[in-house]
Amino acid sequence: MGGARDPDAVARRLGHPDARALILHLPLRHLDETRLTPLAEASPGEFAQVEGVIRRAEVQRRPRQQLVVEVGDEAGTGLLFFRLLHFYPSQVAQLQAGARVRLLGEVRPGFFGAEMVHPQFRLVRPGTPLPDRLTPIYPAVAGLSQQAIRQAVASSLATADLADSLPDALLEKLGLPGFAAALERLHHPAPGSDLAALESRTDPAWRRIQFDELLAQQLSLRLAARRRHALRAPILAGGGGLHSRLLAALPFPLTRAQGRALAEIHSDLARAHPMNRLLQGDVGSGKTLVAALAALPALECGGQVGVMAPTEILAEQLYLKFREWLAPLGLEVVWLSAATKGKARRQALDALAAGTARVAVGTHALFQAGVVFHKLVLAIVDEQHRFGVAQRLALREKGQLPKEEQGSVPHLLMMSATPIPRSLAMSYYADLDVSVIDELPPGRTPIATRLVSLNRRDEVVGRLRDYCLSGAQAYWVCPLVEESEKLQLRAAEDSHAELAALLPELRVGLVHGRMKPDGKAAVMAAFKAGEIHLLVATTVIEVGVDVPNAALMVIDHAERYGLAQLHQLRGRVGRGQRESTCLLLYGEPLSDTAKRRLRVIKENADGFAIAREDLHLRGPGEFLGARQSGQQILRFADLERDEDLLDQARQVAEHLLDGHPGAVERHLQRWLPHGLDYLRA
Ligand code: ADP
Ligand code: MG
Repeated sequence: MGGARDPDAVARRLGHPDARALILHLPLRHLDETRLTPLAEASPGEFAQVEGVIRRAEVQRRPRQQLVVEVGDEAGTGLLFFRLLHFYPSQVAQLQAGARVRLLGEVRPGFFGAEMVHPQFRLVRPGTPLPDRLTPIYPAVAGLSQQAIRQAVASSLATADLADSLPDALLEKLGLPGFAAALERLHHPAPGSDLAALESRTDPAWRRIQFDELLAQQLSLRLAARRRHALRAPILAGGGGLHSRLLAALPFPLTRAQGRALAEIHSDLARAHPMNRLLQGDVGSGKTLVAALAALPALECGGQVGVMAPTEILAEQLYLKFREWLAPLGLEVVWLSAATKGKARRQALDALAAGTARVAVGTHALFQAGVVFHKLVLAIVDEQHRFGVAQRLALREKGQLPKEEQGSVPHLLMMSATPIPRSLAMSYYADLDVSVIDELPPGRTPIATRLVSLNRRDEVVGRLRDYCLSGAQAYWVCPLVEESEKLQLRAAEDSHAELAALLPELRVGLVHGRMKPDGKAAVMAAFKAGEIHLLVATTVIEVGVDVPNAALMVIDHAERYGLAQLHQLRGRVGRGQRESTCLLLYGEPLSDTAKRRLRVIKENADGFAIAREDLHLRGPGEFLGARQSGQQILRFADLERDEDLLDQARQVAEHLLDGHPGAVERHLQRWLPHGLDYLRA
């Protein structure tokens, strides 16, 4: 196969754009073929390479079919058997008495003496030299041999420009090897190298590569930040009249944490470059109100505000809140989602284009083609991490203002209940300012979380009856069916039918993702008004839903849910004066990770602790929403393990950007030749 030899073709089969990328196609581990252990000294338990002459080879039929080969040394003192349980006729023909073989494998005590089962073997002539480097084992794909990969990698190493992107003095200070030396050591380590350090990726050569990768990430983030700082944005500092009117109308004062976050946002808005701020606060901490207050300076300056949420139901909740708070101030709030059609849509679009509508709330439909704002000055994105990368990018691009203000982009405020762990905050989110609401409004009751086996479901249903008849309300979250929306719908309908039959004295409602927005809104409104006792729901209620009188939640088959989802779901209760409970019904047997997840949820109320565990259990890719983009995040570095390198990379990035533009360019060219747009989303 001539094609397989072409380094570009090999690179593409391995998922790289071209052969140049092969220098960073790094081995998983290595084999030591540089030494021969004398046959007589090959002792059981050892992983060794031996060489000898075949004395005898025969296919045995019992106890099962196998090829047994007896190998001896010249002196006649050493003897070793090797057995192949699967073999080809060509191998039987090859392994004849008198042939010389080199074997690599684990020596085991066998029936007749020392033996190897399925070693790596090849025929050699006497005196065939041993390799002088360890043999790399590369990540491979089916149909591509290690040999083909080794050749392609070696040829790209031979032709590539391996000049260091970093100054010598810097490397010396960091105690890291040069780039070329590091690659040489990883691909072709010298005999006697520490194989364990290479395999565990703790060898200094690995550290250099990990550092480089983290540095590239820091550089590109910082460049994005500098580009953003070079952009202009409208200065939004109003007189504060609307602000005091809204505060006066509220039945409660802001918490201290809300006030602090709001002050930070207001000071960003008063500057001439675009805000890029994340408002982070646990579920129920009151982010929506802060967002509404954040919009006021924009509105006082005559601008428009777009508010976007990832699901219809959450967007509707935001819409209702914004309208409740802003309409009395004479500000028109419009609703826009993909489902807004016909006349309603035309009216909303006209009002936005004319500027009579001051605030638009909706799903991502808000920032799609055909929606024109008269003067958008602030975009607010709730539960930002749940948006795909592409949607976040689209939002950024949308932000063009009318002609007279060209070159000016809107401010951006994002909100999330999922805290960003420190390692991610320092890397992917390094270009983000963060405000934290670290305090819940007063009077909240802690939520008691209990694990209950599904064997006791009847008991739970009985308890629900008493609970709801006493005047309280409850949620029943039905089992998660990830495979298909249809099956999920069926599961929700089944749960609803069953509970309605078991609890005839209660009014049982149903809300799920496939319902029309009107239908959903009607059910939610009825639940909020207390007309429904028990609301059977899918994860559509995961975020934002706010019904203080509902203080009991049952999650059916809780073991199917992820940590973040469980925490979000549970956050629907504990919002009023009632003592709140969350029952996690689990099916048996539980897998180890499911057990661990449920324990984390039971023992932690704090979103930070849960997010940390979540990152630990799932890795950063899912957290960042990069799964949707199909892009790899970090190939070599591990944000948790390599936190020290990350700290260094941050400092070095600043240093290089300030004084070594050539190094910055060389480094990014090597590591991010195609850019990494999603980092800026
Ligand atoms: P989240 O941060 O999860 O989005 P919400 O904004 O939905 O939380 O707020 C949860 C509930 O707390 C809402 O009913 C809201 O009106 C209420 N709330 C917000 N701020 C305060 C406050 N300072 N004091 C009392 N209740 C508040
Ligand atoms: Mg919210």
